[in-house]
Amino acid sequence: MLKLRNTLTRTLEEFKPLEGNKVRMYACGPTVYDYGHIGNFRTFVSVDVLRRYLKYLDYEVQHIMNITDIEDKIIRGMLSSGRSLEEFTGFYTQEFLKDCDSMNIERPEIMPFATRHLPQMIEIMKRLADAGHTYQSDGSLYFSISSFPGYGKLSGLKLEGNIAGARVDVDEYEKADARDFVLWKAAKEEGEPRWPSPFGEGRPGWHLECSAMSMEYLGESFDIHCGGVDLIFPHHENEIAQSEGATGKPFVNFWVHTEFLLVEGEKMSKSKGNYYTVRQLIEQGYSPDAIRYLLLSVPYRTQLNFTMEGLRGAETALEGIRNFRRRVADYDSQGESHTRVRDLTERAREGFEAGMNDDLNTSRALAAMFEFRRDVNTAMDAGEFGGGDREAVLEVLGRIDSVLGVLGEEQAQMLDPEIERRIEERYAARRARDFTLADQIRSELAERGIILEDTSQGTKWKRK
Ligand SMILES: [Zn+2]
Repeated sequence: MLKLRNTLTRTLEEFKPLEGNKVRMYACGPTVYDYGHIGNFRTFVSVDVLRRYLKYLDYEVQHIMNITDIEDKIIRGMLSSGRSLEEFTGFYTQEFLKDCDSMNIERPEIMPFATRHLPQMIEIMKRLADAGHTYQSDGSLYFSISSFPGYGKLSGLKLEGNIAGARVDVDEYEKADARDFVLWKAAKEEGEPRWPSPFGEGRPGWHLECSAMSMEYLGESFDIHCGGVDLIFPHHENEIAQSEGATGKPFVNFWVHTEFLLVEGEKMSKSKGNYYTVRQLIEQGYSPDAIRYLLLSVPYRTQLNFTMEGLRGAETALEGIRNFRRRVADYDSQGESHTRVRDLTERAREGFEAGMNDDLNTSRALAAMFEFRRDVNTAMDAGEFGGGDREAVLEVLGRIDSVLGVLGEEQAQMLDPEIERRIEERYAARRARDFTLADQIRSELAERGIILEDTSQGTKWKRK
């Protein structure tokens, strides 16, 4: 049984969907004004792992991730770039999706854009206004937090001494400032995108977007809402106030938040020179699989210290598992399956699930996989491994990787005659002094795991 730590109740709770076998989950997506950094991707990868594990458990998952394409930073970026809102956000949305693909992040079922859900936002504002949760000032519409008794229940914030009249217009603000927040902002600057509404021309506040898009696709109450810990306050607190203020129903059953990431022991910042986007690391030669592995190797509720040494370690760890998978696939035995391997397979599956069921404890789950590798290697060394075990071991590895998503497809094995043929072609190329072609063949073979060695008796080869 999967247990998740629920930020709302501050306890580890057994997960159960509100309705049958269906899991309805929402994750706050990117604000598309720049390339995503690895801190953002820690959250996106952890949400992907949750999504994949729910599918592993045979739940039917309906996962929504919004794209915030209107917000303060976007407007600043768009105005200074001289591009239209669509061009500006369209570009960063495409780049974000490319990064997601390289990080092997599955696409959510729906990725709605904020600017295409204005009617739903206006509807929520009308309901809030009717229920007495709003007031207008300087052409903008605000949510009065003192009108909502539950305000602060997610973040644990106490509204002492109250805050009459204090308002914020910006989309993000500090925890010390519990303030009335803006639902609809009057258009002020020249060139600022704006839409008509019963509250005047303007644009939605950031918080309102997520309430509108989540309820549009998942209903007024749904199962899981994810995001980074930095979103607990004010963003998610405000989403609860808006949604429950409008519907009178509980908004979300489970709130799941991913912790921060440090880089080389420090908070990531451009000025410290420890700020990395996913694409920068890939350009430096790190594999996306290793980046993903490092991001998910520490349980999502624990702070992760991302280091280059850790990243190199991740490359090595992955290589080790892939070599193991290859050894199993190549193991040449027609024999029966062995009870010992059957037991190990069962234990690996149980260990992996026990780790994941414990609030997605990925480090426990990985430990089960490494133990499995060690024990199966020992069984193979001892010859206690038959042809019948091969499928079972590969099947468990495949199941585990359907959640972790780090091993990639096993490359089709090159058959010996094909390798011999390429080696002959390389030999011919060398005699013709076509060293470019010869080198090309050598590196093509190396990529497929074949190492060549030129000796006085000709070229020998072996598998990596
Ligand atoms: Zn959100």
